[in-house]
Amino acid sequence: MTAAVAIVGGGLTGLALARYLHDAGVPFRLFEARSRLGGRIKTEHLGADGFDLGPSWFWPGQPRMAALIRDLGLEVFEQYAAGALLYETEQGEVIRDRGFSSMQGSLRVRGGMGAIASGLGDGLPDMSVETARTLVSVSDDGTLGFADGRTVAADKIVLAMPPRIVRQVTFAPALTPEVDTALAAIPTWMAGHAKFVAVYDQPFWRADGLSGDAMSRRGPMVEIHDASTDTKGALFGFLGVPAALRRGQSAAVMQACVSQLELLFGPKAGSPVEVFYTDWAEDPYTAAALDQDPLTHHPAYGLPAALKAPMGARVYVASTELALEMGGFLEGALAAAEDAAHWVLATS
Ligand SMILES: Cc1cc2nc3c(=O)[nH]c(=O)nc-3n(C[C@H](O)[C@H](O)[C@H](O)COP(=O)(O)OP(=O)(O)OC[C@H]3O[C@@H](n4cnc5c(N)ncnc54)[C@H](O)[C@@H]3O)c2cc1C
Repeated sequence: MTAAVAIVGGGLTGLALARYLHDAGVPFRLFEARSRLGGRIKTEHLGADGFDLGPSWFWPGQPRMAALIRDLGLEVFEQYAAGALLYETEQGEVIRDRGFSSMQGSLRVRGGMGAIASGLGDGLPDMSVETARTLVSVSDDGTLGFADGRTVAADKIVLAMPPRIVRQVTFAPALTPEVDTALAAIPTWMAGHAKFVAVYDQPFWRADGLSGDAMSRRGPMVEIHDASTDTKGALFGFLGVPAALRRGQSAAVMQACVSQLELLFGPKAGSPVEVFYTDWAEDPYTAAALDQDPLTHHPAYGLPAALKAPMGARVYVASTELALEMGGFLEGALAAAEDAAHWVLATS
């Protein structure tokens, strides 16, 4: 089996690259390890309502995201932020109106961010996209080996995976120490995080003058926001409990999150109609061992010199972490896809 271009990874970078190549008439095949497309974009559904367990927002001043959403015919709305913010002290005291909504002005996509991944996936030829295909090896003659034992030969290979995840692939010949060190040094954005969503019939906190925003010094969630849809109320939070303590404890973590929401937002918050939880630190396709601790600041991402040609002229690495602009964000994934498309077209 041969492919002119093999794209490995069906997150936003890989999908957007596939779209560029499809539009340019360049034959490609995309291989994704998970059984779904989207990568860190993950939207769970309750009926027609979508709830984001990965990214929720994009921001004004991100032109690639705005254009893509427009092209896909998706709708955008502002993060709900009207009303008071709650602050929870280390002792569990709840103080109203301390601080301001940190996400005011952020933009959400109707249906959830998953609508972007499915919109992109739906626009690609069926035969060109394969899920449940985990790359395990790459040879410099262009042979890709997959966990299911199959191999694919490609003229060019774009590894649209986080740099630290690229290190889990076996290369023949082995990557140079310089390349391996450069890959290891790039943290995977948000990979150490976990996100919890509680869904309610109504966004009842709004009637109490609350925005749904809360900051907590006590946890388990440290930052909480409104995640409501047109027909359902929802609150989501980022966990502050370290990844090592969360591991294997999802039931207890979810129960503790519901209890915290009840303490903050009152008795109605104790009876969600549905809960969703994703611990990204436990996901081997996102988080490497080095990613287990959440980052305290946004790294200065970019494409280090060692990764410009990591394995001769045939292989390119692209993910939001390697974008020259807006690295880490969805906008960065689109910028990385553009860079990868330029590389493919310039070397064809
Ligand atoms: C909890 C959370 C919240 C976030 N919030 C925001 C936000 O609000 N706004 C924002 O702009 N950004 C946010 N981000 C960041 C955003 O999700 C990323 O910038 C973006 O999704 C990265 O896309 P990517 O394609 O570069 O990487 P990924 O989405 O990680 O895609 C890589 C793909 O490669 C696949 N893969 C890995 N290994 C293999 C293998 N061996 N073989 C085949 N396939 C493989 C993976 O399964 C995955 O699909 C958030 C991330 C998280 C986790």
